[in-house]
Amino acid sequence: MHCPFCGANDTKVIDSRLVADGHQVRRRRLCLTCSERYTTFETAELVMPRIIKTNGNREPFNEDKLRGGIQRALEKRPVSADDIEKSINNMKSMIRAVGERELSSTMVGNLVMDELKELDKVAYIRFASVYHCFEDIQDFGVEIARLEK
Ligand SMILES: [Zn+2]
Repeated sequence: MHCPFCGANDTKVIDSRLVADGHQVRRRRLCLTCSERYTTFETAELVMPRIIKTNGNREPFNEDKLRGGIQRALEKRPVSADDIEKSINNMKSMIRAVGERELSSTMVGNLVMDELKELDKVAYIRFASVYHCFEDIQDFGVEIARLEK
């Protein structure tokens, strides 16, 4: 990065250490042009994108809401809490991997359906029927028939 004092490109890291329980790297830098020293902090960016609702409103990604929806779909189904958490972590990694600042709620919904399809087919149908809103009851039937194959 450019030196904040003179704008030169040539800076040298003279010290580097982990801070904030290892979640951050603190670097002391020396500008080779003006000899000023300054500090930079580096953290991993784990910010979740904002969610664009179907009506166009934006809202922050809400993990509790995601978990709630999945748990409702999995009610009384033989799926362990561990598997649910693994699935939620999978989804979060995928959402982050998209690398966009905003994601449509439809896309997140599709991701949830992909995960549920792997976890439990009954939960998948429950979730799909509520969140995906099949065009009509016939589509719903087709989807069930396809799953039962
Ligand atoms: Zn400088």
